[in-house]
This record gives sequence, C-alpha cells and structure tokens, in this order.
Amino acid sequence: MLGSARTIAQVVLGLSLAICSTVQGQASAPAPAKPTDEEKALRAFAAIHPIDVHVHVFKTDPAFQKMLEGLNVKLLNILVMDDTLPYRKQLQPQIDDALALVRSSRGHIALCTTFDPYKVDSAAFDADAIKQIDRDFAQGAVAVKIWKNIGMEIKDSKGQYIMADDPRFEPIYKDIASHGKTLMTHQAEPDVAWGPPDASDPSWSYYQENPQWYVANQPGFPSKQTILEARDHVLASNPELRMVGVHLGSMERDLDNIARHLDEYPNFAIDTAARMEYLMLMPQEKMRAFLIKYQDRVLYGTDLDLLPDAHFPAVLKDWRSTYARDWKFLATDQTFNVEGKQVHGLNLPQPVLQKIFRTNAMRWIPGL
Ligand SMILES: [Zn+2]
Repeated sequence: MLGSARTIAQVVLGLSLAICSTVQGQASAPAPAKPTDEEKALRAFAAIHPIDVHVHVFKTDPAFQKMLEGLNVKLLNILVMDDTLPYRKQLQPQIDDALALVRSSRGHIALCTTFDPYKVDSAAFDADAIKQIDRDFAQGAVAVKIWKNIGMEIKDSKGQYIMADDPRFEPIYKDIASHGKTLMTHQAEPDVAWGPPDASDPSWSYYQENPQWYVANQPGFPSKQTILEARDHVLASNPELRMVGVHLGSMERDLDNIARHLDEYPNFAIDTAARMEYLMLMPQEKMRAFLIKYQDRVLYGTDLDLLPDAHFPAVLKDWRSTYARDWKFLATDQTFNVEGKQVHGLNLPQPVLQKIFRTNAMRWIPGL
C-alpha cells in the first residue's frame, strides 16, 4: 500500500512538474531562431540531393552518418596509395575498410578504388592490378583513382619519373574502360608548387605543411606541363575511357586552358575539389560564363576528409561550412567573406546547379 501510494504521489508530482515546465516553456520560449545564412544555404544544398565526388573518409560515426542523411548528400570516397602516410601505405586494408564503410552508409557513400603504383616494376604488375580492380568493381567500386605520385614521386629502375602514359598502365586503363568505369586523375599540383613562393595562393599553406610536394628548385624535376601532357596523352589514346581530372585538372589558374581541354577531349570532365577558392578569384562574369558553357563537364567535389584521428564535432563543422560556402558561391548572389576576401556569388541558373551538384556525377561516374 505504502509503495503504491508513493508511486501515485510520484506520478502526480511528475505530472504537475511536466505541466508546470510546459507552461513555463510556453511562457518563456524564445521565438524560433531565424535560420542563419549557413543553415539557409545548407537547406537549399540538401534540396538538390547533392553528390560530392571527392572525399577521403577513413571512419564513420553516428554523427557523421546523421549529417550525410540530413544533407541528402552522397559521397564518392577516393582511395590513394601514399607511402608517406601509415594509413595510406597498404592497399588491401584500405579497400576492406572502405567497403565496410560503403555498406554501413545506407547508400550515402560509394567507392573509388585505386591500385598500387609503387609495384610498377614487378613482373605481374598489370595482371595483379587488373585482378584487384575487377574484384573491387564486382564489390561495387564505381571508379579508379591515379594520384600525383605518378609523375612526381615514383621513379623507374633508371631513375626516371614514371608518367601517367607509361605503357605499363595502358592495360589498366583499357580494363577500366571495358568495364564502363571512370578514371579519376590527380596529376601534377597547383602552379605554386613549382614556385616562386606565394603566400597569397590558396594552396600555399598546403606546401607549408607538406613541403615534400613543393618542387621548386629541384633540378631535373619534371615540369608541370610534362606531367599534364602525359595525362592528355592518356585521354587521346583512350577515347573510350571516361576521365575526371580532379582539382580542375590541375589547371586551376587558367580557365582558357581548361576550356581547350574540354573542347579537345570529349571524354574529359573536371571536379572542383579543393580548388573552389581559385574559382572565387576568377573575374566573376568570365567564371559564370565558363560554368554555363561547360555545365555538362564540371562535377562538384570538395576533398573534405574524415581522417582516422578526426575530432568530433569540429570536423562536422568544417564539412558543413564548406558545403554552405560552396553553395553560396555557385547558387546565390550573396557577397561573403572567404579567408579575408570578398566573394560574390555567381547565382547560376537552377538547371546548371542541378548538373554540377548532382547529375553530372551520375553521368560521368555511372553507379553513383
Ligand atoms: Zn583528394
């Protein structure tokens, strides 16, 4: 009896507290906060069901998954072999982790695999690479990446830098094309990597943190043009191969050069990853006209990452603010501040936004 009396008293007390707090809540609740500029931009971004074709995600987290679902965003997670980073040194563990990530993402993450170019001198190089890539395709990979270590790091037995058009890569390109998959190429680097130092360049801080890729004053180092010509040679000799030149095809300071490439190679498109700040520096009318003219050839990508040692929630803030910034730049006529510079939005027409943020990715990288 005592027990149930206490229970009733507790329920009554609980109810009255609940009613009380509801009443108080109604009395003192502030009017719903006005959405901030960032929230407004992210809502419009989410409404287009965007695809970000260039990210590097090494782990997941319920908060990260929730962000992807809230933004309706789909990611292409790109693998890279990098012998200078412990978590990028081995290929198979990266593939296994990435496939697990894809499976846990409820359709929000797809895989762009790679092969091990450091093994280029081994006799079974082509056969092994093709076997592995085909296995990854069978498990759902939609694209293959080659990275700047081809052209800028890996040397052959004679001490020559290996280029993208090395005949040993040719069977791999043919294999990718025969499967109807896409090759993502990060070849060369921004101009500033060849010097002179320029603290005003959007990539300058990267070379402060990664001096191994700053190649000015390295005698005998290939010119940027040599590396990109090798990439162009792959395009010309593989007309059946769809190629996305990531980072604006490494022609970040020269819209006319990008246009020439898009005109010359119908199998070539570009992504915007980590180079949006260069687009923000271009004369506004020229930039806008370029994106309208080449609206079928530009894919939205960011190069955002979620590294094994990433800290939450700071990393989520970074992702959200990047998406909001890029949306404001391409989709609105707002004026806003980026790294101390005034940027004016391009206010692109909705059908163009639909292509850049979504349908170009689906056309150029089938399976996304
Ligand atoms: Zn990247």
